[in-house]
Amino acid sequence: MTALSTPIPILDLTSAEFTRAASTHGVAERDALQVYRRFFREGDATAAAERGLPIEVPTAPLVDTLVDTLVDTLGDGAVDGSTRKFILRHDDGLETESVLIPMEHRTGGLSHTLCVSSQIGCAMGCRFCETAQMGLMKHLTPGQIVAQWFAARHVVGQPVKNIVFMGMGEPMDNLDAVLQSIRILTDHNGASIAASNISVSTVGHLEGIARYGAFIEQRGFHRLNLAVSVNAPNDAIRSEIMPINRGAPMARLREALLAFPKRPNAAICIEYVLIPGVNSDPSHADELCEWLRPIRSSLNVIPYNPRRESPWPAPTDEEVDAFVARVQALGQFVKTRRTKGRSVMAACGQLGNAAIRKRRFVGEASLTVGGGEL
Ligand code: SAH
Repeated sequence: MTALSTPIPILDLTSAEFTRAASTHGVAERDALQVYRRFFREGDATAAAERGLPIEVPTAPLVDTLVDTLVDTLGDGAVDGSTRKFILRHDDGLETESVLIPMEHRTGGLSHTLCVSSQIGCAMGCRFCETAQMGLMKHLTPGQIVAQWFAARHVVGQPVKNIVFMGMGEPMDNLDAVLQSIRILTDHNGASIAASNISVSTVGHLEGIARYGAFIEQRGFHRLNLAVSVNAPNDAIRSEIMPINRGAPMARLREALLAFPKRPNAAICIEYVLIPGVNSDPSHADELCEWLRPIRSSLNVIPYNPRRESPWPAPTDEEVDAFVARVQALGQFVKTRRTKGRSVMAACGQLGNAAIRKRRFVGEASLTVGGGEL
């Protein structure tokens, strides 16, 4: 195969990179831009075919969508209010899992947040998390991350407002690919997701937080968000449930967060998975708030979703309310992440559970859109 006929991996590239690659095929910048726009905005690959420009997307058939309501099936029109997990199978048989979550606004409107995976499996070993049970199977490429947005937008067919890197994997462990996927997802000629609507969540990877901070200081990326899974009020508990804490204890994590570049009024999102009997005491709320005091933060309490063979139950609503009330009384801004998608193992910390999937084959080549075979 000559260089000229090598297909261009469009999902891996920004529009500038794509037009450069297209020029080696003799396609003018204006035409290449049109190809890129039609592909990302309309899911239409015909413009590439018309210009004889070979493009390639990772072949990742949508094999499964599981919806958190009994009535919805793919193809009969999306049920807007439902949380939907979808799965893309790669050539090597491994699968990404992504979750589309409806968000209701105070105004009554509805938009969708897409939760993407950055890895298949995860190496971090957090004891409460389902994904950790798989270990790390592979890092995703930028195109495999962007393919999750493409599938949500053009195969499942939902407009996506927000993207959170809160699916499988530790984004800071695969940061080059994550940053490139962010360049692509924010590209104005393509997906055009606002940087302010993208959040990267980390287990507290110090070097990754610093590198992400440096990335954010570049033009166009100032408004990207950081979320950190703290999940514990002190080192003893955190080291017990999150192995990363043994090498990167909470004092150093706090230094890293204080050094993170902030735009005025922006808060770092602090995630706290509330696990009964582990980190749910009133004294834990006090200790957590003390640790958080110097950081401009928004605390997000996530009721624990039991993983397979979980040693812990889910908290009751009363336990969640009591913890949140205590934190609030201490002056900390706090929200509760309402559990969505538990029935299809799509809730936080539940991705990667192959055993529980009820497979439903949706289409051999669902990423084949518009223009036929890619
Ligand atoms: N590795 C990154 C990205 C994953 S985000 C990180 O740790 O931040 C997934 C979020 O779900 C994290 O905040 C994690 O703490 C939380 N989580 C993991 N297991 C969970 C569970 N069983 N119930 C509720 N939340 C969970």
